[in-house]
Amino acid sequence: MNKPVCVYIGDDLKRYGFGDGHPFGPDRLDAFWREACNQGLDTAICVRDPVAAAREDIARFHDDAYIDKVVELSTRGEGYLDDGDTPAFKGIYEAAAFVVGTTLDACCRLMDGDCRRVFIPIAGLHHAQRGAAAGFCALNDCGVAIEFLAHEHHLTRIAYVDIDAHHGDGVFYAFESDPVLTFADLHEDGRFLYPGSGDARETGRGDAAGTKLNIPMPPDADDRQFMLAWQRVEEFIDAARPEFILFQCGADSIAGDPITHLRYSSAAHGHAARSLCALADRHAHGRLLAMGGGGYNRRNLALAWTAVLESMVKAEDEAD
Ligand SMILES: [Zn+2]
Repeated sequence: MNKPVCVYIGDDLKRYGFGDGHPFGPDRLDAFWREACNQGLDTAICVRDPVAAAREDIARFHDDAYIDKVVELSTRGEGYLDDGDTPAFKGIYEAAAFVVGTTLDACCRLMDGDCRRVFIPIAGLHHAQRGAAAGFCALNDCGVAIEFLAHEHHLTRIAYVDIDAHHGDGVFYAFESDPVLTFADLHEDGRFLYPGSGDARETGRGDAAGTKLNIPMPPDADDRQFMLAWQRVEEFIDAARPEFILFQCGADSIAGDPITHLRYSSAAHGHAARSLCALADRHAHGRLLAMGGGGYNRRNLALAWTAVLESMVKAEDEAD
């Protein structure tokens, strides 16, 4: 067997960024990878190349008319995909297709038992809706992956856990009535931060009532508050016995992010990853897919994402 922890690195992933100087700039991947190499984590893992998604795969989640719109604006290279958050640049469709394809490739490898844990730094574009872009997200790789696992691999219990400062609204509302998805999201209270959703009373609809857990955190919430809330997430996911766990580990919930107000340290991300490794071992044959998500302070994202990767590597070392 290959090394059990894989990371996807390459220029094709870096292309998903909105230009130098933008919070979601193309330098985020390098900031993470430099730190991972400094810590010697690169020798403990298997590095893989990004993969492009075919249109049919993107259409598992997104509406055809919306895909047409992204392709058209991507060709023109100007304007906005939404009301002003997500600018179109030349090639944004192809760049986003690499994010989606890489997430799908990771799902396949995890399902095949080719590896047990995956980290993709540029992925977890959780705001995009089936028919619209939002919050720097053109295509929702998490949504495509959930549809793919449910319909191609016939999984009936999939978990999505999100600790990005922003509510994972693109995933939540797309699967709000779908009991296949167990959803747990710790985010800054929507009264203080974009996108404004994720109230604790939003717990799923119809057949899916009770399958979703939204925990709004007060601005300035620290590690202590995170750890308390995390216990609820852990119990919720454990009870759902998922066959596959997706983890959006956005680093914009760390103190010092330029666009949010939470105050965790990277220990929160390391702790969450360790806990999810144990849950994945208990229920999901180890299958854990972590996606970088947001994070706009380069130092923070480097430390938070390497903390996630280190937890994955250590969990394997301990299993040996
Ligand atoms: Zn975010």
